[in-house]
Amino acid sequence: MAKLTTPCLSVKKLWNIDLDELKRQGMTILLMDMDNTIVPWHSFVVPEKARQWVLRAKKLGFDIYLLSNNVHSRVLPLAKDLGVEAVANACKPWRRGLRRLQKLYEIDLARAVMIGDQVFTDIVAGNSWGVKTILVDPLVRREGRMTWFARTLEKGIMKRKIDFSGGED
Ligand SMILES: [Mg+2]
Repeated sequence: MAKLTTPCLSVKKLWNIDLDELKRQGMTILLMDMDNTIVPWHSFVVPEKARQWVLRAKKLGFDIYLLSNNVHSRVLPLAKDLGVEAVANACKPWRRGLRRLQKLYEIDLARAVMIGDQVFTDIVAGNSWGVKTILVDPLVRREGRMTWFARTLEKGIMKRKIDFSGGED
């Protein structure tokens, strides 16, 4: 469980992710959560820094796919706005969305990075699919009830991690 919930890397915001470094590591595919990773929960306005980061990623040649558990009516307009491909109702951390992507596109998992703000959906998903995972802090705090529930669990796990690390050293 611990391994599945541990991201390869944690950053504050999406735009803090070093795209040049990912490229150096041979990464070419970005599998991206949408809500609270690229755009604030319940908003259709992409923050300028997030938009610039996505633009730069495209310029560097990354293939970007939104992989969102949210519904089509929310995901598709944003994908269109950003000019990227998208799969809605992805059912992360399960493979449903990933499978749909793999049917449509060639997704080399060895070159893919999963980026998201939630441990139990985005990070567990990426880790169980064997792709590199990057956790970002959520853009805003206001969220649905299920997300709040997952976060409470996450906090419990993080707290325990700190307790254990104190004992190991
Ligand atoms: Mg999210």
